[in-house]
Amino acid sequence: MSTGLAVIVVGIALRQADRWWFSPVRGRHRPDSLRSVMTLQRERLNDVTPVLVLLGHWLELAGWSAVAVHGGAWGCAGAALAGAVKFRHLQEVSHFAVHGVLARGSRLNALLAEAAVHLPLGFVPVAVRRRRHVREHHPNATVTGADPNLAELRCAGLRAGATTTRCVLAMVHPLTPAGLSDTVRGMCAPGRESGAGRLRAAGPVAMTAAAAGCFGWEAAVFVFVLPRLLLYPQLAWMSLLVEHRWFDPEPVIGPPVAVEAGRCLRLYPHNATLALLTRGTWLPYGDLYHFAHSAHPAVRWNYLPALERSLRGPAYRPRALLLGASAVLRRHRRALASASSTPTTPCVPAARTNARDGATEPAPRWERQLSSRTPSSPPR
Ligand SMILES: [Zn+2]
Repeated sequence: MSTGLAVIVVGIALRQADRWWFSPVRGRHRPDSLRSVMTLQRERLNDVTPVLVLLGHWLELAGWSAVAVHGGAWGCAGAALAGAVKFRHLQEVSHFAVHGVLARGSRLNALLAEAAVHLPLGFVPVAVRRRRHVREHHPNATVTGADPNLAELRCAGLRAGATTTRCVLAMVHPLTPAGLSDTVRGMCAPGRESGAGRLRAAGPVAMTAAAAGCFGWEAAVFVFVLPRLLLYPQLAWMSLLVEHRWFDPEPVIGPPVAVEAGRCLRLYPHNATLALLTRGTWLPYGDLYHFAHSAHPAVRWNYLPALERSLRGPAYRPRALLLGASAVLRRHRRALASASSTPTTPCVPAARTNARDGATEPAPRWERQLSSRTPSSPPR
């Protein structure tokens, strides 16, 4: 077990090379405007430190595998949580690869995301995720009939007029039997788009078999199977829920910063401890700064905090996820309860599984076109 912990420390240390190299406080730069941030980012983009980031995360997973095998029940529990958090980290690293700012070249970005994240974790091909996330979600966030992420939330039950029970179940959708079924189908679904075929399911199966062969069955079950099927999808779902004011965005016409300020939110604006904990676990790599990312998607995660300080907005800055008047999940429930509950045609999924950003298989185009014609409550 001590070897496992040592490997985890080595993995964490490896990842710090990228953090140091891109650090906004290193050197004589002042990354306090979009222009200065982009200049600095262009100078520092490289093909070495991103590899160390991914290698570090996989080393940590190997270390947690040893902890699961030799750490008893507590070791298994800790390794399961750590596995889910590591998958969230990998998902976010590949998110920035999809935006083309993880490494220097676009081919290497795609290769790293595919080889180190999408294939082993059973995500859709990088090109499919890029189309869904960069071309369809970003410009259309919270727009009914155009945003595939909003369609996912609706399919899970977060619709106008939803009861409190329905909302609560939808907010833990990946942990429900229906959510688990969606996750498994998403990983095993036959290819409806090129490259998204059955063979992709071999990635997570091979990873699980390798964990069992190299470490033991505890590693396979608690570091790969349980996190990949249940815990990670729930963390990814939670991160999706706090990305936007999904059900009551302010429709703003203007520059991207103003538009995104009206449909984004900023969690924990005054609680540095919770913000730090969140950044280290379920909202890693700039996910807490989704407003700044939405306004300027080509900025690497390292510069989002500094960039956010230079931007105006967003207006909605909740202090909590669940408790208190400003809490995000309570606001979603209130928005849905007060929205018009006019009957809608049956939900047609824009994506077939419940995890965000590529852990999904998009529905075929004809289904999405049908979905876009589906009458539903307008954003409020
Ligand atoms: Zn993005």
